[in-house]
Amino acid sequence: MENKSFTTRVKSFRKSLPLPVRMGAGWIKRKLSPHRLWETKEFKDYFDFLQKSQWWSLEEHKAYQLEQLKKLVKFAYENVPYYQRSFREKRVHPSDIKTLDDIQILPLITKEEVRNHVDEFIPIGIDRSKLRVWVTGGTSGMPLKVYQDLFPTCLVEEAFSLRQRLWADYKQYDRKVTLTRDPKNRVQKCWDYNNHENEIVLSSFDLTENNMFQYFNVIHKFKPRIVVSYPSALEIFARFLKRNNLSLPPLQGVFCGSEALFPGQRALIESTFNCKIFSSYGMSERVADATECEQHCGYHVSMEYGILELLDKNSDPVTEPGVSGVVVGTGFHNDAMPLIRYQMFDIGVYSGEECACKRKAPLIKDFKGRIREYFVGRSGKLMTLQLIWAGRHPVWSKIREMQFTQEVKGEILAKIVRAPNYPDEEVIRELREEVGKILTEDEYKIDFEFVDRLPLTHRGKLNFLDQKIPLDFESISASGY
Ligand SMILES: [Zn+2]
Repeated sequence: MENKSFTTRVKSFRKSLPLPVRMGAGWIKRKLSPHRLWETKEFKDYFDFLQKSQWWSLEEHKAYQLEQLKKLVKFAYENVPYYQRSFREKRVHPSDIKTLDDIQILPLITKEEVRNHVDEFIPIGIDRSKLRVWVTGGTSGMPLKVYQDLFPTCLVEEAFSLRQRLWADYKQYDRKVTLTRDPKNRVQKCWDYNNHENEIVLSSFDLTENNMFQYFNVIHKFKPRIVVSYPSALEIFARFLKRNNLSLPPLQGVFCGSEALFPGQRALIESTFNCKIFSSYGMSERVADATECEQHCGYHVSMEYGILELLDKNSDPVTEPGVSGVVVGTGFHNDAMPLIRYQMFDIGVYSGEECACKRKAPLIKDFKGRIREYFVGRSGKLMTLQLIWAGRHPVWSKIREMQFTQEVKGEILAKIVRAPNYPDEEVIRELREEVGKILTEDEYKIDFEFVDRLPLTHRGKLNFLDQKIPLDFESISASGY
């Protein structure tokens, strides 16, 4: 016990030191005790591989994918009870996979299917006690447990993130600010310095006016090269900066992922942070990954990560530029729970263009968010949430956070956390006018409610639309998306 309280005292002493002292101590610590992932041979080898493979020709990418797919299907067929059953039912054998297009003979699987048979997705003979369980989709639907082998999963995720960060001239261990997870479990304040990675961690759970002033000050002291976060948290912080006329020190880029990035958010964040956004697409199920490069003309599919398909409502591949499809992913790196042709509820737009950066990995023009990010009008007509956030009206700076909820067709409740010093009536009047341009009166009745806090997901994200009406890709395609 005595020992523990001594450790606690040392920790709180360390945290009370001025930031430059902690940064100096962090530099020494990194020299003396190597990062337990980044400094391993496995990580360095894999990262070197990714640095080379990003310049492969499309044929080289495809040959690599085919080899990985064959290996994965064989592994699943021999070791994973779910696929042993489903491949038998569909009369599929690993030897049927001769080209990449042959992936289409494999059955599609849904989140529902995985949730109902989660144990059957774990290979026979694997030691489950060594696996990490990741729970996805807490507030946005029924949660799903995803089992992962911790070390290889972290290695792959980190290597792909680092590769993208290098595209912004960032280097490993350069100063970065991360506004995501909640560091409160570890410290008694809303931010902390992580000396292993030379990173300031800001809690996205605490975006109050006071804390955001603290975040602003610590960012100025720290002078990070990049900021990493979710679009929803960045947007809240960007609005705060804008309404208080504050500017950040120069940044090389803002990196965001885990949520769809709407055009209005991109414009707001890039203008207030005064740098470009490097967006990425990925999901906790670890089946597909795509990242924006320094040319910012779409998302390059990470071909070494997995196979990303875009399918139309008949489950045929989308091949026409500008046409949307639902994302289906097959990940190469999670042997603890292989997911083959896993259907996401995300919509991607096919590009077909070549990127000026000369990387040949195909581009997805944009990710339009999840299927549930649509409003349903009285007549059943759908409207994408994207259009709401495209607005540049000054009313947005008078709002700190906002969330729409829909349970009934044509009826929407907008919950608002107002920024200080603006009258409620003024905010409602301007907002009704602005939102009403998209969610028109003939289709929608909108109610507004002021609240002190909005519910966040367990990872500190804010869902802009809590859509309770079940939607599917077919109804969305029918409405023109
Ligand atoms: Zn590019």
